[in-house]
Amino acid sequence: MSAAGGGGTAERADIGVIGGSGFYSFLDRVTEITVDTPYGQPSDSVLLGEIAGRRVAFVPRHGRGHHLPPHRINYRANLWALRSLGVRQVVGPCAVGGLRPEYGPGTLLVPDQLVDRTKGRPQSFFDGARRADGQQPNVVHVSFADPYCPTGRATALAAARAHDWQAVDGGTMCVVEGPRFSTRAESRWHAAQGWSVVGMTGHPEAVLARELELCYTSLALVTDLDAGAEAGEGVSHAEVLDVFAANIDRLREVLFDLVARLPERRDCACGAALEGQDPGIALP
Ligand SMILES: [Zn+2]
Repeated sequence: MSAAGGGGTAERADIGVIGGSGFYSFLDRVTEITVDTPYGQPSDSVLLGEIAGRRVAFVPRHGRGHHLPPHRINYRANLWALRSLGVRQVVGPCAVGGLRPEYGPGTLLVPDQLVDRTKGRPQSFFDGARRADGQQPNVVHVSFADPYCPTGRATALAAARAHDWQAVDGGTMCVVEGPRFSTRAESRWHAAQGWSVVGMTGHPEAVLARELELCYTSLALVTDLDAGAEAGEGVSHAEVLDVFAANIDRLREVLFDLVARLPERRDCACGAALEGQDPGIALP
């Protein structure tokens, strides 16, 4: 790990945020560091700052030039880098499509379930394969019945309420491979399963956090009605960007309030995800 601004506590953080540049671009006294991991490079350099006295590390998920499509993001490096900085609680805001007519643009949803429809993304640190540094993790199977941190979810809902944003409490996020949007048939199928929203980055982010015994909370902002849920032209990237831009200020307010409200001592089971299993390598 190398840092631009010397060593010490300036390079540590308690809370990690994986999201776009709109969340940290106006923070004062941001320290930028590059972090290397046994799983390669994170999406970009990590930015360290402070919100309400809490040390926060930001990773721009798609890189600062938005040059990484969802299927090429190094999710393992992003999570490993955060943990190596001391992070134990992670919040992952993301843009999603609504699968129900009532979940229109501007809806905020805090999912409690996910369905993985990605293809071929590395989704484990502990796959038995020898790493570039010569270490060989054991095979590990974590519980993932409830993929999100219950404390983080409750805190996110409270933070949204405090800003007069009635977030949807729970729902299933279907994560597709992308980068294309869904066909109408796929979208109708996703909706018929009872799933709530569809995104491209929520997995494997959540399970990799679990494998590192991190708390993970998803904040899903609906930017469009997915193809099957509307009669129009289907989703366009421009539409997604417009709705995200229109909501970025209040989403940032909720996110910062959420960071401030997260407990300093964790009271959930996320930190014991590997209990009883030997990963064969030390967590950072
Ligand atoms: Zn937790």
